[in-house]
Amino acid sequence: MERITDYFGCLVFNDTVMKARLSPEVYGSLKKTIEEGSALDNNVASAVAEAMKDWATEHGATHFTHWFQPLTGITAEKHDSFVSSDKEGKVILEFSGKELIKGEPDASSFPSGGLRATFEARGYTAWDPTSYAFIKGKTLCIPTAFCSYGGEALDKKTPLLRSMEAISKQALRIVRLFGNTDAKHVDTCVGAEQEYFLIDKEMYDKRKDLVFTGRTLFGAKPPKGQELDDHYFGAIKPRVAEFMEDLDKELWKVGILAKTEHNEAAPAQHELAPIYTTTNTATDHNQLTMELMQKVAARHGLVCNLHEKPFAGVNGSGKHNNWSLRTDNGVNLLKPGDTPYENAQFLLFLCAVIKAVDEYADLLRISSATAGNDHRLGANEAPPAIVSMFLGSELTAVLNAIENDTPYSKTERMEMLFGVDSLPKFLRDTTDRNRTSPFAFTGNKFEFRMLGAPSSIADTNVMLNAAVSDVLCGFADRLENCADFDTELHELLKETIKEHKRILFDGNGYDGAWVQEAEKRGLPNFRTTPDCMTHLLDEKNAEMFARTGVFSLAELRSRCDIMLDNYIKTVSIEAATMLDMSRRQIMPAVSAYSAELTARYDKKSGVGKIPFKYEMKTARRLSELLDVMADKTDELDTVFTQLKDIEDVTEHSCAIRDRLIPVMEALRAAADEAETLTAEDCWPFPTYEKLLFSVNL
Ligand code: ADP
Ligand code: MG
Repeated sequence: MERITDYFGCLVFNDTVMKARLSPEVYGSLKKTIEEGSALDNNVASAVAEAMKDWATEHGATHFTHWFQPLTGITAEKHDSFVSSDKEGKVILEFSGKELIKGEPDASSFPSGGLRATFEARGYTAWDPTSYAFIKGKTLCIPTAFCSYGGEALDKKTPLLRSMEAISKQALRIVRLFGNTDAKHVDTCVGAEQEYFLIDKEMYDKRKDLVFTGRTLFGAKPPKGQELDDHYFGAIKPRVAEFMEDLDKELWKVGILAKTEHNEAAPAQHELAPIYTTTNTATDHNQLTMELMQKVAARHGLVCNLHEKPFAGVNGSGKHNNWSLRTDNGVNLLKPGDTPYENAQFLLFLCAVIKAVDEYADLLRISSATAGNDHRLGANEAPPAIVSMFLGSELTAVLNAIENDTPYSKTERMEMLFGVDSLPKFLRDTTDRNRTSPFAFTGNKFEFRMLGAPSSIADTNVMLNAAVSDVLCGFADRLENCADFDTELHELLKETIKEHKRILFDGNGYDGAWVQEAEKRGLPNFRTTPDCMTHLLDEKNAEMFARTGVFSLAELRSRCDIMLDNYIKTVSIEAATMLDMSRRQIMPAVSAYSAELTARYDKKSGVGKIPFKYEMKTARRLSELLDVMADKTDELDTVFTQLKDIEDVTEHSCAIRDRLIPVMEALRAAADEAETLTAEDCWPFPTYEKLLFSVNL
């Protein structure tokens, strides 16, 4: 049998391959660039390119591509073959240092949010040596950043790298204050848990809504959903297990440390989590994971659906961003240790995160805002749309003691009692978990849970890194120049806790009372994408991004425009799909069925015959529903057409939220009721029952 260790990372131009294939000088120089960010020498680039090409072609690659992450949120690639000809016209394989370092895709069709007019199509991709190149199919993929001719970031990677540099710089200043003189940089590390649905492809293809929009726009609730909690962590069924096995192998080959897999709460829903790594690589890996999930699913006659809320009435799919800070010599700065009360450095970092999340809660919300996620956040499953932080009982007690200058008594870890002698004894964690908090401390990292399944994790980490780095900068300024370090530190912690404790909440985030409590505390509650998106440009945010060097104002504006434009397009496609399904599938089917009932009724309930109550009642209700559907369909069409001409994206997105979506909901309600009254074999496409329960048999 093949062993994992034999093929793990076999398609990655990783450190082992580099060491083996590059001269010690070239290897050393490249390592310096990767680890310390020093500028890359042209000769080094040429030598690396040559080695990469040899390695890639030996592994069957014929092409190379600069793999980048434009603002569409997915990855992009343009393939060039290695083929070239020598002076005699003979074919040779070539890949130069220049081609490795720089690319110039004519990328005028990518959204730039006004950063670039289409006639100024010039955009550059630049090699990111901190993320390993890899082979996908027959193509060598080189992770790159993507910028405009004027140097504005047109992608998700550039700001991410900027934010990583910003936080590294400030975190270093802090650890120096605590006597750490050898750390050279501080990395943010991320582990992204990915949720998804698996649906039978044949059924999926029969649903225009799934095909065009990724979510069901119609569909009555089946008799059984997730009430019994029998799917969560349930035994994995054979067809799904085969998919997971195949997927793991593909992921391992490209060096992704796929680790945990289980069934999720909703039927047909699953989760995959890799082992965490530095943010940049984690982001690339997550993009690649989503791509491979879909590719592998297709091989198994399945569709891997990554929409935030594909089905009403059962959980949607999110992505958890587990985040921590680590020095290059391996110290996790968010690890409290056994005695957090005495761990001043940890407490300082903790307070920095608290302050950052409180001051920039809007940015975290924005980083998870999409039309799809609007259906998820605040529904009874994902975290609410209000950002708050969970710390757990032990840390809360520590912070209370600091804030009030009261003595702190350590929580002793209790032995876990199962009440069965033969079971192993171990010490219980000092605090329980909280599953409803959007931003939870989970032992040595923070877990941000608002992200929707399909989103790139880049945006969230950009916001988080930038905000925390800005706060750390303020802390360092204050502590570096104070007269008495210990006193100043204590004051700083105390002040921060007092000022920002409103963001801390350990209770049930799904509880309605929390919404009111949060409002009293002055915490923002942005329910929808149009509600929050323009706050990206708020003065405090624009200033913070300028201070940290992560986004220019023009870059922020472009992102705001693109996200709103994306919202408008997403909902518009949904509306158009509903019109189509309603007019060409649902209404004709319901009309035919109700006509059939009426015909039966007429035939059998003539004079002297028994009245057919069922036919009469059902046909009547279906006719009423048909009238509602017809009216709502026409109204949807009218509003849709009216809104089309609004030019301003903010105005347009608000109008969609206020005028279009309510009509879509009313149309769906009527159609869903009609579904429950129509004979199964007369319904024009597979129902929830089939979609959700067929794969897991
Ligand atoms: P749960 O579902 O309980 O949150 P999982 O094991 O599914 O836990 O996922 C936890 C994720 O957090 C994994 O991707 C793991 O690698 C990651 N993780 C663990 N420690 C850290 C850390 N220090 N920094 C960032 N991520 C971490
Ligand atoms: Mg988790």
